[in-house]
Amino acid sequence: MSRVDEIRGGLSRVRSRIEAACDAADRDPGEVTLVVVTKFFPPADVRALADLGVTHVGENRHQEAVDKVAECADLGLTWHFVGGLQSNKAAAVASYADVVESVDRPKLVHGLQRGAHDRGRDLDVLLQVSLDPPGGAGRSGADPGDLDELAAAVVGSGALRLRGLMAVAPLGEDPDAAFGRLASIRRDFVETHPDATALSAGMSGDLEAAVRVGATHVRVGSAILGPRPGDK
Ligand SMILES: *Cc1c(COP(=O)(O)O)cnc(C)c1O
Repeated sequence: MSRVDEIRGGLSRVRSRIEAACDAADRDPGEVTLVVVTKFFPPADVRALADLGVTHVGENRHQEAVDKVAECADLGLTWHFVGGLQSNKAAAVASYADVVESVDRPKLVHGLQRGAHDRGRDLDVLLQVSLDPPGGAGRSGADPGDLDELAAAVVGSGALRLRGLMAVAPLGEDPDAAFGRLASIRRDFVETHPDATALSAGMSGDLEAAVRVGATHVRVGSAILGPRPGDK
């Protein structure tokens, strides 16, 4: 099977899963944007995805992303940055990303704002909220209790548009339980930020659970593109 056929097959399986999950949740599939996470995969795969109608792609490492975005500049894609962000890279990421989903501390805001300003346009951001137990090792994302302060920093920045929340279900926990907490965090958040309705949640293994709690964006990599180097 050719690589393009492999990608076509993966994409069609994932699109069917999203449709079935929307059906079961009584939601319109048009409310759920598929972001294909292309980390570790070459620009040729991004091109194949674009040919197959994909319009949103995600990357999680700055160096890889900056090269890939440049090589795929003619495709008119919307690029989401979904990875952990160092504050000294924030301005650089804002210079090519269309959406930064992993804003988890006020320290990032200045760099993002500067990068967006230099590029001469607003940048969409999501706040990444942690669903891990407080104090857990290796967690990324803001504590739910810190979201309002973080949101205020984003809103006050000028060139950043607060669009909503992003989360990753903790490894080893039932995603329905984790996303149940996320749904309640989001209900509170949207009360104070009524325009920030985006919810990015759900990956290859748990997109159905995310669609059930109202995800507007699912970030799917391996179910479409296959295993990444190092995956089992
Ligand atoms: C890699 C990655 C994904 C996609 O994961 P898969 O399990 O391959 O679908 C989603 N979100 C983030 C933040 C990622 O880093």
